[in-house]
Amino acid sequence: MRIIENVGEMQRQADAWRAEGEKISFVPTMGFLHEGHLSLLRSARTLGSKSVVSIFVNPTQFGPTEDFASYPRDVGKDLELSGKTGTDAAFVPAAAEMYPDGFQTFVEVTRVTKNLCGASRPIFFRGVATVVSKLFHAVKPHVAVFGQKDFQQLVAIRRMVKDLNMDVEIVGHPIVREKDGLAMSSRNTYLLGEERLVALRLHRSLEVARELVGSGEKNGGAILQAVNDCLTAGGGAAVDYARLCDTDTIEEVEVVEGPTLLALAVWVGKTRLIDNCVLGG
Ligand code: AMP
Repeated sequence: MRIIENVGEMQRQADAWRAEGEKISFVPTMGFLHEGHLSLLRSARTLGSKSVVSIFVNPTQFGPTEDFASYPRDVGKDLELSGKTGTDAAFVPAAAEMYPDGFQTFVEVTRVTKNLCGASRPIFFRGVATVVSKLFHAVKPHVAVFGQKDFQQLVAIRRMVKDLNMDVEIVGHPIVREKDGLAMSSRNTYLLGEERLVALRLHRSLEVARELVGSGEKNGGAILQAVNDCLTAGGGAAVDYARLCDTDTIEEVEVVEGPTLLALAVWVGKTRLIDNCVLGG
């Protein structure tokens, strides 16, 4: 696997591949790779003839009180794991390579980012859209894979690509979970002792909602009450949000008719976890 740290070098490699008729597939990540990321990388390999992973903890998507400094990092291990999937190149830029002195241009997706994580983390999606645009200009992919674990992010990226006429196909990948249901996340490494058990309630509450909808419940209030009860019973979890939304607009809905996003963000101790599922339809 080729390791590239420089934007110009990445662009030259992408141009060379394109000139040879290769199809470039791409998975952007913040590293500390787990099986969820690796599943995206394996999927990317089937979608193109040359695949690229980026490993970059993007400072512009973290608020001043968030965990940018402490975000888990292990680039050596990431390179080893991604190399084993057969990925052709890893783009691993330094922060100063992506945001040199004088940087002042941002990409903003205005509406689908208002609710959910956009409401809790005001600068998050501006940072994500900006870095993904920059990564697309560096890697020049034909196709890019994003996890449905970050459902709102996937919707925002699709919107950005459409609105800015970016010639990249966006593919969503299902959520990869631990055997006990916990959605894999680099941040799971923060969970201490009992917190790992408390964290299981996110997946359990999604199942409670799925069962309710399966038995005919359509009332959003009743579904969210059951979800909140499941999340908070036993203590140790503080719900940031548990909301039902339209899967395209990410606006809240009150009745589950057709596919509806149930999105969760929950604090377990000092760790903020997200999870979601699509109900109905
Ligand atoms: P991150 O490194 O957290 O920025 O994630 C990089 C990509 O991997 C994003 O598209 C995420 O949605 C995706 N991803 C992270 N965890 C999972 C998971 N458990 N299942 C599926 N995709 C995931």
